[in-house]
Amino acid sequence: MRTIVQTLPGSASTDQSETGRTFAGAGVSPGRIIGSILLMPQAVREPAVGERLAAETSSEEASTALRTAAKAVQSNLTARSVGASGAGREVLEATALMANDPMLVKAAIKLITNGASPERAIWDAAASVAEMLHNLGGYMAERATDVLDVRGRIVAELRGVPAPGIPYSDTPFILIAEDLAPADTATLDPAKVIALVTSSGGPQSHTAIIARALGLPAVVAAVGVDALADGTRIFVDGAAGTILVDPGADEVALAKAWETAAAALAVFDGTGRLHDGHLVPLLSNVGGSKDAVKAAAAGAEGVGLLRTEFCFLERDTEPSIAEQVEAYRGVFDAFPGKKVVVRTLDAGADKPLPFLTDASEPNPALGVRGYRTDLTSPGVLKRQLEAIALAAEGTEAEVWVMAPMISTAEEAEHFAALCAAAGLATPGVMVEVPSAALTAASILEHVDFVSLGTNDLTQYAMAADRQLGPLAALNTPWQPAVLQLIRLTVNGSRDEGHDKPVGVCGEAAADPALAVVLVGLGVATLSMTARALSSVAAVLASVTLPEAQQLAKLALTAHSATDARRLVREKLPILNTLGL
Ligand code: PEP
Ligand code: MG
Repeated sequence: MRTIVQTLPGSASTDQSETGRTFAGAGVSPGRIIGSILLMPQAVREPAVGERLAAETSSEEASTALRTAAKAVQSNLTARSVGASGAGREVLEATALMANDPMLVKAAIKLITNGASPERAIWDAAASVAEMLHNLGGYMAERATDVLDVRGRIVAELRGVPAPGIPYSDTPFILIAEDLAPADTATLDPAKVIALVTSSGGPQSHTAIIARALGLPAVVAAVGVDALADGTRIFVDGAAGTILVDPGADEVALAKAWETAAAALAVFDGTGRLHDGHLVPLLSNVGGSKDAVKAAAAGAEGVGLLRTEFCFLERDTEPSIAEQVEAYRGVFDAFPGKKVVVRTLDAGADKPLPFLTDASEPNPALGVRGYRTDLTSPGVLKRQLEAIALAAEGTEAEVWVMAPMISTAEEAEHFAALCAAAGLATPGVMVEVPSAALTAASILEHVDFVSLGTNDLTQYAMAADRQLGPLAALNTPWQPAVLQLIRLTVNGSRDEGHDKPVGVCGEAAADPALAVVLVGLGVATLSMTARALSSVAAVLASVTLPEAQQLAKLALTAHSATDARRLVREKLPILNTLGL
């Protein structure tokens, strides 16, 4: 159990004028914690195109400055890799090597000799090296990202500004950022970062998803919080969505109480059920085999969402069938005899995959993403289904497959035909576009199940980009309009003489109060980050099915998302007892 009250040695004392100042945002991951903050540095600005060496600096001096900066970046990354573990360590080691790569440094020095400033020289040299690596393909192509990462670090070192990326500290801290990119999270060490607060970012953003997966208390869209100084002590309440500067005895007591409650909540017995015994299988969302092993250990009853794009986020070429088989089999092997729902690649918008998506689209959330990439890159989906079928052979997992971003029954029919051709017996689709919720009955004539992706369903129902902090109030699945779409989907699943299962795999399932409403609306299974299993299970076990149905009615007929949430939470006293 981590310590709840942290200070940074030598940290700035809180500016007296800030004491007692509060910030309100959207709480996205519960937990009450006190600690000192570190701010995520701004992204490094590109040096001006054609920037020349200053008149008073010789090319020898500039070359030496560049060599020194490259070495400094390398030793800093090497030192950090020693203290890191797992994927974070590998990323740091690879980047450290690249920072002082002779080919990169030589190419930059050549440009300096021709009169370029050292910042511009390393910028352009790294771009050429990255392009060359990219053209080599395979493993080498993946190193292109490392080159671009070290380029930013070397420029920051030359300018004497903080290095980009998650700041480093020997002691735990609360990370304050405008928002986080998926790549930042590879080096986010949950032993060091004890809570996460962003000034931007919506409740369904990947920052929020990652915070929940790591079990970090988190608040997003807390406008103005990034103006606080490094070292300021704050209290974060990840359920209420509030931040208090320079907390007092009351907050220390709240943080201590949370620590006790969190310890009691750490266990899930492996069966989701209501107070009256009604079963609600609780599954887990995973991004690869490591997550799957953790989810199985946390008692997940299967996988409700394997985000396959997460296995290949850094790739700019299509993974081979053999690579895919290996990635998927690792997940299947973690769940013998259990259901594993594999989602086909959901590339685009907030999860770009260079080999599938077009970065220049004017409106990526409404563009060629998810299942739609089959239109522009035919064959990738077919090969992925082939890989899933191959990976499923000889494993004991019960493999289901689903497509993201389905809008029509025709698309569902086409996807089911592709699954049948690949020998995959249980096809399904995600309901994350309102048109799919409205036509769930027709869609379910072609597939065996649907899974509600409430993150996207909310952004499309409310026409509010899930990544935008200012739209956080619109972007919540507590919106009565979103709950109506969920109700319509469940109704559709019971139409036409069939009764096919409807699950939820969006973040709504990880909100214990909303989980009760979803079950009351008729949702059969809930899939969430492994961290949320125990709290969702504890709250579900406190209500009967008729009570959950009553709460669903209350939420559906509320005038606003805020009212829906408040009215339901008032009827679930266990939330307060457990600090959720
Ligand atoms: C969703 O949209 O709710 C979902 C589960 O998919 P993702 O968050 O990966 O877009
Ligand atoms: Mg989605």
